Amino acid sequence: MHMDKQMNNRIRVRFAPSPTGFLHVGGLRTALYNFLFARQHGGTFIVRIEDTDQKRFVTGATENLLSTLSWAGLAWDEGPCISTHGEKDEINQSSSTKGSRGPYIQSQRLDIYREHVNQLISRGKAYYCFCSPEDLDAMRQEQMQHKKPPMYDRRCRALAQDTVQMYQQKKIPFVVRLKVPDDEQVIFHDLIRGKIGFNSNMIDDQILLKSDGYPTYHLAGVVDDHLMEISHVIRAEEWLSSTPKHLLLYRAFGWDAPLFAHLPLLLNPDRTKLSKRQGDVAVEEYRAHGYLKEAIVNFVALLGWNPGEGKTQEIFSLDDLVRTFSFAHVHKSGAIFDIKKLNWLNAQYIKMLSMAELYDAVLPFLSQKEFYQNAPTHCREKTYIEKVLTVERERLEKLSDVGEGHIFFFRAPQYDTGLLQWKEMTNDHLHTMLQSARKTLAAVSNDQWTKEVLHDVLLTAAGEHRGEFLWPLRVALSGEKKSPPPEEIAWVIGKEESLIRITHAIQQMMH
Ligand code: GLU
Repeated sequence: MHMDKQMNNRIRVRFAPSPTGFLHVGGLRTALYNFLFARQHGGTFIVRIEDTDQKRFVTGATENLLSTLSWAGLAWDEGPCISTHGEKDEINQSSSTKGSRGPYIQSQRLDIYREHVNQLISRGKAYYCFCSPEDLDAMRQEQMQHKKPPMYDRRCRALAQDTVQMYQQKKIPFVVRLKVPDDEQVIFHDLIRGKIGFNSNMIDDQILLKSDGYPTYHLAGVVDDHLMEISHVIRAEEWLSSTPKHLLLYRAFGWDAPLFAHLPLLLNPDRTKLSKRQGDVAVEEYRAHGYLKEAIVNFVALLGWNPGEGKTQEIFSLDDLVRTFSFAHVHKSGAIFDIKKLNWLNAQYIKMLSMAELYDAVLPFLSQKEFYQNAPTHCREKTYIEKVLTVERERLEKLSDVGEGHIFFFRAPQYDTGLLQWKEMTNDHLHTMLQSARKTLAAVSNDQWTKEVLHDVLLTAAGEHRGEFLWPLRVALSGEKKSPPPEEIAWVIGKEESLIRITHAIQQMMH
């Protein structure tokens, strides 16, 4: 585990999202593992925006990715900066980057890619290809007819220099392709999967520069990983099949390749590939529904990693993770995304908040609720909300649930009088019980109005008639079939309101 300092200084990792929408939970996991690995070894965590696919670009996505990442606490040492202007996060163009190997946004590095492609062409490692989409289509059809795998047939590799020049003068659109060597073994050692080998015959002469002048992901990624001195490429398994192409590119440039770690796929509980629907997988949606960042980070860390055999710890702060994370305990098999686990973790983190923190955390959610906005002033006061939270926090799974299901804390309940009846009790008995409850509570002074005192006096008054006494009282206070016990509701809403609600119940049942 102990690595010498010089080695540590050279650990440089990157999270390289494409700004095509929102930050996916899988993306957050990739970012997190990179972050943890960097922090653990005193290395550098870099964020690079891979926006060279113009067709998939979504305005605002970069800002969104970066702000979600920094909300989660994954501060990067090098990369684009965001600054907050009012509500909106914007990329700060002026002093736009942290770090000396930028720019870190690929669309700002187009000259660098062109220059590197030219280097490859002049060294005979890459070539211009003038095949039109129609040519390529015909080629594919023919290969399919002959049951051959569809691959570029390399016809432009053999173009004479003057033909190339002539085509260029005629402004025929072109791409640049890598000359993939024949029959070479490409072997690498994945930090999670171990030894992986490919034969170069399986690899197409891949496109490096597209006809729009933009680099492909393969070229831009390799050039940047080299120039940014990335030591470990830690990314999702879906990129594993691209790695041999990247290794061939490193060879073509004559560069040493970084080490690789490919993280396991994320699966639904039925083991199908995790949905791409924004509501299910966007980190920002979870944030908006009142999941705490600590819970999300903890949850995401456990998607494919555990602290080791026999270790049962499940709650990990970011610092704990920096200490315990290791690729040795990242699984090869897919990791199941289990929302129940996230809810459980979130509930644990909610319990850990102090009352003041919980209040601050729930207020934005509460303020949006109609029942809160329309509640009497005293029900919106901090001390009142803190009482509601005292009752709710044990069962609260997400901040957006606050008050839901307990609307009777914010307005008088409406219910069918039949609900007041406990089992087969008669109306007379019900009446007596409610009167007795009213009398019992009326006798408790305001300064004795605590959950504990209320609990004791109500149980004493109920005597042997617990069900018949407590059920109608609870319904009178809450109007619900299920709710916290009557002493908790009475404690929150206060003596005056409790007596009003019981009196109302008595009046209602007499009609
Ligand atoms: N831009 C790629 C993505 O969106 C990054 C792949 C890599 O890390 O090499 O996931």
